[in-house]
Amino acid sequence: MTTGRPLKVLLVEDSPNDFQRVSALLRSDATPPCDLTHAQTAAEAVHSLRTDHFDLVITDLTLPETTGLETFRRVKTCATRTPVIVLTGIESDRISLQAMEEGAQDYLFKSHVTAELLSRSMRYAQARHHADEALRESEERYALAVAGSNNGVWDWDIRTNRVFYSKRWKSLLGYLDNEISDSPAEWLDRVHPEDGELVREKLNAHLDDLTSHFHAEYRIQRKNGGWMWALTRGTAVRNEDGITYRIAGSHGDITDRKRAEEQLIHNAFHDSLTGLPNRALLHDRLDRSLRRLRRGGESPFAVYFLDLDRFKHINDSKGHEVGDRILMEFARRLEACIRPGDTVSRLGGDEFVVLADDVGSPEDAHHLAERIHEELALPIAIGSEEYFTSVSIGIALSSVDYDLPEQLIRDADTAMYRAKADGRSATEIFNKEMHDRAVAILQLENDMRRALNTSQFEIHYQPIINLRSGRIRGFEALLRWDHPSMGLIQPEHFIPLAEETGLIVPVGWWVLEKACHQMQIWQKQFPSGNPLTISVNISSRQFSEPGLVSRVQGIVSKSGLVPGTLILEMTESVLMKDYHIAGQLVEDLRAIGVQLHIDDFGTGYSSLSHLRHLPTESLKIDRSFIHSMTESSENSEIVRTIVSLARNLGMTSTAEGLETADQLACARSMDCEQGQGFFFSAPRDSDEIETLMHSNPSW
Ligand code: C2E
Ligand code: MG
Ligand code: MG
Repeated sequence: MTTGRPLKVLLVEDSPNDFQRVSALLRSDATPPCDLTHAQTAAEAVHSLRTDHFDLVITDLTLPETTGLETFRRVKTCATRTPVIVLTGIESDRISLQAMEEGAQDYLFKSHVTAELLSRSMRYAQARHHADEALRESEERYALAVAGSNNGVWDWDIRTNRVFYSKRWKSLLGYLDNEISDSPAEWLDRVHPEDGELVREKLNAHLDDLTSHFHAEYRIQRKNGGWMWALTRGTAVRNEDGITYRIAGSHGDITDRKRAEEQLIHNAFHDSLTGLPNRALLHDRLDRSLRRLRRGGESPFAVYFLDLDRFKHINDSKGHEVGDRILMEFARRLEACIRPGDTVSRLGGDEFVVLADDVGSPEDAHHLAERIHEELALPIAIGSEEYFTSVSIGIALSSVDYDLPEQLIRDADTAMYRAKADGRSATEIFNKEMHDRAVAILQLENDMRRALNTSQFEIHYQPIINLRSGRIRGFEALLRWDHPSMGLIQPEHFIPLAEETGLIVPVGWWVLEKACHQMQIWQKQFPSGNPLTISVNISSRQFSEPGLVSRVQGIVSKSGLVPGTLILEMTESVLMKDYHIAGQLVEDLRAIGVQLHIDDFGTGYSSLSHLRHLPTESLKIDRSFIHSMTESSENSEIVRTIVSLARNLGMTSTAEGLETADQLACARSMDCEQGQGFFFSAPRDSDEIETLMHSNPSW
């Protein structure tokens, strides 16, 4: 070991002669350069070792106060980190062996020692000492790492079939060091029965050299009977012949991590508000039930789609907190209705789905539905208030015709819609007729999407007459669909569906653009001091579209329409739904010169006080009132009241659906300003309207 500097050597020797001799040997060329310190007694040696650092100690055993191993031990206890060579006259095998066992690096006899011998011994001592130090440091590091990582250690000697388990290994399971033997069973017998096979398989795979290391996550039983999730790693050691003779590794507690993982998995499959399974988990369970059914087992089931009645109303008026608590209570009550093994899930909002096993007949299906209705009939108490809720239930019974979970949910949902229409607390079971209707609607929806791009839509125009002058005031634009196979379809058959699917929005904008463009042409073609107006119906969906006003303005200015001649018709229920917002929109529309007329007036439920604040120009009296007004004086009084109401609010009125001369006379007698109906003209396409205008110059 050449370090560059001379070796610091402590020579413990009481005999001056021997000291002379040994120091001469140390100064010879054969030995490495030394910086020598001399001690004559064990006490002196101890003192030197305590106050200075040495690279090597060479010690005699026979000293003035101590002799033999006693000398060695006193020196060695102070030279824990320094290699010690014994150089003595005592030529005893027993003592030399004992000294070596107690840590002497070498044992030399004075009578035989030469410079070469001493030099070699010193080199070996140093080298061995360094190796020992490195090993000790590495062991220390390993021990620190093991202690720091909180893991236990195990070391299995395959030849003896004994396992060393570290203290930590045992304490992780709640055992004291002496409570666990060195048998492999101490480990393997504690593994959870469901995980045992996995652990053994992985262990064998690694022992057979099929895997690069052993790695297993499994449950193991603690002393207190509870289960701990363990992660055990290990590496096998093999001899030259490839035979494994040892496998060792670490053993840690991963219970917290596993819990967190389980929580994450739970969250992914459960609704956070009610803790019920969510749509994903419901799908999974439905899928399993469907597969069981298709395998041919007698295992019918039913899917219940539940939707709380008027929940939105409670949520909006009482706040989300109350809404949430009602949903939670509803979830608990539903759970109380079902049998173990059935699933209650929440799809979101106030929509729940129950998957009930062993429900084969409609009678069975109704049975559970009745229980649910009864449970919900009891009021839900929140704070000091009691809430009465009810639920609409749609049921789909299992059948081998179903391939996918969503088909069952969809059909139960369709049946639920039917139940909703029946009124509160109703139950409907999905049937063939609903199926056909649903298919037809789906078909219609698809066709409608295509219709807009393939110009199947067209607009018919119906004249609106000034009842005083008898001349045409303007036209109402009415949408028609020329279906490739079904022919002309009236709006009542597709507008509600277009509303539901949102398709009414693009279709509505198309109508507005087209009608404005047409009217601009007619305004030029048929000029008058009182330019013709164009009335366009606006659906509630369009009305709540952001940017409505600027879009309308864009269309009007692009079309070149005479300002102030566009009228938008809206039903009163749309305007009354949120009359604050509606009021502002109506103001904004008026500001850009667009009039508002209230359509089908009398069929909704307008609040008169709200009506007063809506700056609309005209009320269109629904045709049901016009039709019945000539039948009784009572009915005609209703129309008279609406006309005078309009006048009091500064609006005009329009009689819709005038079909007969009597009706017209009646409307005129009430001083109703405008009229529209088959009596004058049915809605016609633009060519027919032009013919009409040309043929009747007195328009
Ligand atoms: P509405 O706005 O009240 O339109 C008047 C309806 O009364 C039209 O029905 C018209 O054909 C019908 N009608 C006119 N005179 C008479 C009559 O003398 N007797 C009878 N029995 N009916 C008469 P149509 O064209 O079937 O439209 C029905 C509804 O569809 C419209 O009612 C309107 O609410 C809606 N609609 C039509 N076109 C559009 C549109 O472009 N957009 C929107 N959002 N809705 C539209
Ligand atoms: Mg209308
Ligand atoms: Mg109308």
